[in-house]
Amino acid sequence: RAKELGRSDWQLYSPLMDSAAYKSYHLEKGLRNALLQDEFFIEYQPKVHAQSGEIDSLEALIRWNHPEWGRVSPGDFIPLAEETNLIIDLGDWVLEHVCKQLQRWKKQGEKVVPVSVNVPSKRLLKRDFVEYVEKTLAKYEIQPSFIEFEITESSIIQHEEHVKKVMEELKKIGVTFALDDFGTGFSSLSHLKDLEFNVLKIDKTFVQNIGDKGKHQAITKSLLYLAHALDMKVIAEGVETTEQLDFLLQHDCPFIQGFIFSKPVGKEKIEEYLRVRFL
Ligand code: C2E
Ligand code: MG
Ligand code: MG
Ligand code: MG
Repeated sequence: RAKELGRSDWQLYSPLMDSAAYKSYHLEKGLRNALLQDEFFIEYQPKVHAQSGEIDSLEALIRWNHPEWGRVSPGDFIPLAEETNLIIDLGDWVLEHVCKQLQRWKKQGEKVVPVSVNVPSKRLLKRDFVEYVEKTLAKYEIQPSFIEFEITESSIIQHEEHVKKVMEELKKIGVTFALDDFGTGFSSLSHLKDLEFNVLKIDKTFVQNIGDKGKHQAITKSLLYLAHALDMKVIAEGVETTEQLDFLLQHDCPFIQGFIFSKPVGKEKIEEYLRVRFL
C-alpha cells in the first residue's frame, strides 16, 4: 500500500514521467486515428545476394506520416502499439497491404520476389491467426511461398509450444519464417533446435561493430557457422560500410540487408529495382 502510494506520488511529480505519459497518451490516440485516416504506408527494403547484388526478397516496414508531427519512427510507435490491442489491427493492415501490393505488381507484369512481414507475438498467438493468413493470401491470390513472417526471439519465450504449432501449420502451406534480430535479448539456442525457422537474421548490433574486431567479429562468425550447420538461410542486417560487407563476404555470408545496398524505399523505387534486378 505504502509502496503503491509512493509510486503514484513519484509519477505525479516527476516532470519526466509526466511528459512520457503525455507523449504516450497522444501517441496512442494518434495511432487509433491514423488507422482510420490512412496515415500509414509501407516501405520495402531489399535483401540481396551478397556476391552478386541480386535482389532475393524484400522486407516490408511500416511508416507513419502524421499530419502535424511528420514521420514517426516505428521504433517509437510499435512498442507502444504492442502494449495495446492496436498492434493486431496494425499487423493485419500490413499483411493486407503487402498482399494487395504483390497482387498489383503481378498484374502489372513485374517480376515479384517474396516479401517478409514482421509479426508481433500478440498477433501470432491469437486464435484466428492461421485462418486469417490463409484467407488473406487466398483473397489476393498470393502463393504462400511469397510471404515470410519475421518473429523476434522475445516473442517466443513463454509461448514456444503455441508458436511452434502456428509455424508448423503455416509452413505446411509454404509460408516461411525468419528469426529476427538474432543474438539480442533472450537468445537461446534451444529456439533454433525446437522451432524450425527457415531464416536466421543476424542482428545489426553485431554487424555494425565488426570494425571493432574482437568479440563482434567472433560472434558474427559463430552465428554464420551455426546457421550453415543448421541448414538455415542467413541474412546479416544493418550492413552499411564496405568494411562490414568485405568481412561478411570473407566469411561466406550469403545474404545482406542494409543501407549499403538500399534503404527502405517506396513502391515506385522497388518497381525500378525489380526491373533491373541487381543492386
Ligand atoms: P526490424 O524488423 O529488425 O527491421 C530492420 C530495421 O533496421 C528497420 O528499421 C530498417 O530500416 C533498419 N535498417 C536496415 N538496414 C539498416 C542499416 O544499414 N543501418 C541502420 N542503421 N538501420 C538499418 P525500422 O524500419 O525503423 O524498423 C524498426 C523496427 O520496428 C523493426 O525492426 C521492427 O521490429 C519494427 N517494425 C517495423 N515495421 C513493422 C511492422 O510492419 N510490423 C511490426 N510488428 N513491426 C515493425
Ligand atoms: Mg524484421
Ligand atoms: Mg531485425
Ligand atoms: Mg529490430
